[in-house]
Amino acid sequence: MNPDEHINKIWQQFHSIPEPAFREVKTAALAAKILQKAGYEVVSGVGGTGVIGILDSNKPGPVVGLRSDMDCLLFTEGESEVGIHACGHDAHMSVVLTVAQLLAQKGIDQGKVKIIMQPAEEIGCGAKTLLSTGIIDDIDYLLGIHLMPKDLAASRQIVAQIHWTACTLLEAEISGQTAHGSMPHLGINAIDVGCSIINAINAIHMNPLEGWSVKATRFQTGEGAINAICDFATLGFDLRATKNSEMELLKTKVFNIVKKTSELYGAQAKIKLVGTCPSSEDDLEILELVKQAIVSEVGSEGLIPERTTTVGEDFNFYKKLRPNLKTGFIGLGCDLTPGLHDRNMHFNHSDLIHGANVLYSLVNSILKLKK
Ligand SMILES: [Zn+2]
Ligand SMILES: [Zn+2]
Repeated sequence: MNPDEHINKIWQQFHSIPEPAFREVKTAALAAKILQKAGYEVVSGVGGTGVIGILDSNKPGPVVGLRSDMDCLLFTEGESEVGIHACGHDAHMSVVLTVAQLLAQKGIDQGKVKIIMQPAEEIGCGAKTLLSTGIIDDIDYLLGIHLMPKDLAASRQIVAQIHWTACTLLEAEISGQTAHGSMPHLGINAIDVGCSIINAINAIHMNPLEGWSVKATRFQTGEGAINAICDFATLGFDLRATKNSEMELLKTKVFNIVKKTSELYGAQAKIKLVGTCPSSEDDLEILELVKQAIVSEVGSEGLIPERTTTVGEDFNFYKKLRPNLKTGFIGLGCDLTPGLHDRNMHFNHSDLIHGANVLYSLVNSILKLKK
């Protein structure tokens, strides 16, 4: 079987068993089986459903981690939910496991390789959970990959450095006071409070030289009678910022608006953090090596030095929580349309092998570095 067919066969296997965050049971079992067969020492059930494969040269040298996410997205179809790999995590697994097989077949001269099959990227807590187990604390270098939408990188193009945006999801619950519709002065209308909050949030100003956005994404009210004052509302907000420091500022502004506006009306507000993901901090340690590996695979015309995206990626937790870690993350161009998180997402499968070749040569060149 040629390498291109091989990698797509693995993709097909993962593609047919999509499982959402922390429920990647069959996915983890398949990854463990592939790693075991290739000769890795395998640890399963790491931080929930995570799987770690260890390949040790038994000689001193750097420890290189290679991470793939495993979870799919859930879409509502009628009354039920279906899992679909609409973010390409099946593709990342096929690339990373192909690299794992190549490393085991050809052998490593020094250091150690740890293959990290990470759960729950989509809900932003898989990386944190995995880190908390301590099992990857010995890693010196960590590499990752994500498929890129076509507008950021097309087929035979690979991005060497991705600037991921910080993302925060907040939910606010507003409790007012119901009253007869004829006596609004006796109630506190949660709809009025919610509208004022949304208007104030839409009037937030941040430094225009930085990338940021904030918007309401949910506004649900209690199912009260149409001739009664509404006493309850839930609001959802999606916050983005290209810098972590800007995100902190933005979060504080939103918290204050929700709290102070509710106070103004005499309503109670509860605000809860649903999820958060830091932006990527520039890591230049191995950037030159990443670029060299890309150029030797797709030529200098295929190298895209950097891209900025408003999307979040929980890989950024590794660097944020372990600042000494040296990280590299490539964006694989593969003519992906119509976009990530679209249930009809599709891409050019013959590009997967380019991702694997770049990561294979990168792992090898890092293993040659002094620890
Ligand atoms: Zn995603
Ligand atoms: Zn993803």
